[in-house]
Amino acid sequence: MNKLYNKPEWLKIKIEHDPKFDDVRKTLSENSLVTVCEEAHCPNINECWSSGTATFMVLGDTCTRGCRFCNVKSGRYGANIDPMEPMKIAESVKKWGLDYIVITSVDRDDLPDQGSEHFAKVITTVHQQSPEVLIEVLVPDFRGDVKCVETVVQARPNVFAHNVETIERLQGRVRDNRATYEQSLMVLEYAKKQGLYTKSSLMVGLGETEEEIAQTMDDLRRIDVDFLTLGQYLRPSLKHLEVVEYVHPDQFEHYKKIGLEKGFRYIAAGPFVRSSYKAGEFFIKSIVK
Ligand code: SF4
Ligand code: SF4
Repeated sequence: MNKLYNKPEWLKIKIEHDPKFDDVRKTLSENSLVTVCEEAHCPNINECWSSGTATFMVLGDTCTRGCRFCNVKSGRYGANIDPMEPMKIAESVKKWGLDYIVITSVDRDDLPDQGSEHFAKVITTVHQQSPEVLIEVLVPDFRGDVKCVETVVQARPNVFAHNVETIERLQGRVRDNRATYEQSLMVLEYAKKQGLYTKSSLMVGLGETEEEIAQTMDDLRRIDVDFLTLGQYLRPSLKHLEVVEYVHPDQFEHYKKIGLEKGFRYIAAGPFVRSSYKAGEFFIKSIVK
């Protein structure tokens, strides 16, 4: 069975073109800025952009890793960094009137600071230009280098996110071999200890069991992670990992209930939920302000 195209009914939605986003697109392309929302053809784009949330991708378009679920271009070296990127993002955020942004990036194992200083610059520049904007960073694992994590933490993002992506047993199959479950937990734990709100994300449909999801939630709660998202893994192309299961929306509701019982402050769970899905929803904004 071709699992790329044989999707259940609940996953068959069409992304509508919303003409009011044309201005936003123009601003982005004039400034050579990239949003994950557009690059990933994210099905939530209308919802997120209308609610004032967007995810910017910094540090170029080439990742030095090659996770088996991910459609980002990979290479031994990343692209040159645009030193004006922090200011361009800050100006776009202002012009666009966003009140909650997510900054993420490719992994930059090829740089001495792994891109952490650039992340910090984006945070401080946006906050200087628009102090009221809430910033969530979705960072790489920085190969567990605490100095890099500290650089980002010192810039005081409002939410510090790092994704474990999948349960412990499937890490080696799903993520690049340089990423490990323990290393990711360590990064999240470090940020939490510095007093930041922390967040992580899991894909489901990769062959995990409910018990393994519950165990992962326990592992994240043990280090006091505040927010969690769970979404369906969708195979970007036939070269990527196969989907093992399309998880029913009722099961997502069940996961949400389990997670809230375990003490997460907020959980977004559903077939189309992505790490940054409705990241700036009122509830989160009210907590992190
Ligand atoms: Fe994709 Fe991130 Fe993995 Fe790079 S590290 S391949 S961007 S998921
Ligand atoms: Fe953008 Fe994330 Fe929303 Fe998708 S879920 S539209 S990537 S902010």
